[in-house]
Amino acid sequence: MTAKRRAKARMNILILGSGGREHALAWKIAASPLTTKLYCAPGNAGIAQDAECVALDIADHKAVIAFCQSAKIDFVVVGPEGPLCAGIADDLEKAGIKVFGPSKWAARLEGSKGFTKDLCKANRIPTAAYERFKGADAAKDYVRRKGAPIVVKADGLAAGKGVVVAETVQEAEAAIDMMFGGALGERAWEIVVEDCMVGEEASFFALCDGETAIALASAQDHKRVFDGDKGPNTGGMGAYSPAPIMTAAMNARVMDEIVMPTVRAMKAMGAPFKGVLFAGLMITKDGPQLIEYNVRFGDPECQVLMLRLMSDLLPALMAARDGQLKNFDLRWYDEAALTVVMAAKGYPGAYKKGSVIEGLDTAGKVEGVEIFHAGTKKENGHILANGGRVLAVSALGKTVAEAQARAYSAVDKIIWPDGFCRRDIGWRAMVRG
Ligand code: AMP
Repeated sequence: MTAKRRAKARMNILILGSGGREHALAWKIAASPLTTKLYCAPGNAGIAQDAECVALDIADHKAVIAFCQSAKIDFVVVGPEGPLCAGIADDLEKAGIKVFGPSKWAARLEGSKGFTKDLCKANRIPTAAYERFKGADAAKDYVRRKGAPIVVKADGLAAGKGVVVAETVQEAEAAIDMMFGGALGERAWEIVVEDCMVGEEASFFALCDGETAIALASAQDHKRVFDGDKGPNTGGMGAYSPAPIMTAAMNARVMDEIVMPTVRAMKAMGAPFKGVLFAGLMITKDGPQLIEYNVRFGDPECQVLMLRLMSDLLPALMAARDGQLKNFDLRWYDEAALTVVMAAKGYPGAYKKGSVIEGLDTAGKVEGVEIFHAGTKKENGHILANGGRVLAVSALGKTVAEAQARAYSAVDKIIWPDGFCRRDIGWRAMVRG
């Protein structure tokens, strides 16, 4: 390519979102030779080091479109599920702006658990046996017939709070009342009740262009807030990649038995899936089973995937949007990556915002370390906590153990008395040696 053509190929990019996932995406996309100017809306203090942050309400699609037009944005990368389920990809494409992320119809894979379960059943995709319910009485009858343990899920988006793994029938009945009663902020209009699966969980990511899918690296996250996987569920307290349980054979099974049948089914129903498909898996004694789909990168899994990705991310995201993944190949570093989330004390319950964080520069100099910001803002030259999950302290290493040692070495250099983190991220990989 001549210098002139290369200059023409360079682009203005906008990332939507403000978490650690978006910081990792911004870090990677900023490094692409194809990027002329990178914006992020609304972004955070860490993202501001890699992109120009724009104070936009990303739920306001008209405002996002107006910004894209005024800043001559060539490509938009959507981080979180909320805007995708609300149809931001459709609205941007209608306005002539190219976007990475599924349409509203395709985003039902995350937006409706009932939709996904029915799709699995119709296409023989392995998942737990289930029923859908629109009322509490029938759901409770079903629970009494099935017995416990049993899992109760609100149909729609619930920011990770819509799932109860009930150990007893009484607990399941209480969850049903809770969901139909409106305790999730909005009254669930439908729930799914499903069998409890037993095994080890893993996160699997595939880039999809509506027809083809290519597997990305695997990862494992840590949902519970305290060491030893204790305490309430969170958005994720840490992750590492690769997940040892995801052998090459297991990856191939997941592609053949779960991802590709889904991609084909979505295309056949006129809702081709373009974007990143994130399968939450239970690796049972009978093989991989789908727990749920998400229609975007996981947070904090994205942080470890971006550290391990050797190839330029941007052309891959564009090929997914353009339906051109067929001959695409991505290269990965052999090293392992691990990320430790630092959260505000009290998270996932009530927590304070505004405490000062120091030592980030020193921590960031530890070999192999990259600190992604999840919820920070800058005020008078200070970095302040501005959310529940605040930092994702990430590292590459020859092994998970080395990545872990580096990440915690950086954590220990961060001075933030109002924050905390788990000290055992990566323990499953350590146990396996
Ligand atoms: P989800 O939001 O669907 O990923 O569920 C949150 C968590 O609940 C999962 O990461 C699992 O730990 C657990 N879970 C969900 N569904 C099941 C199931 N059918 N069997 C066992 N555990 C489940």
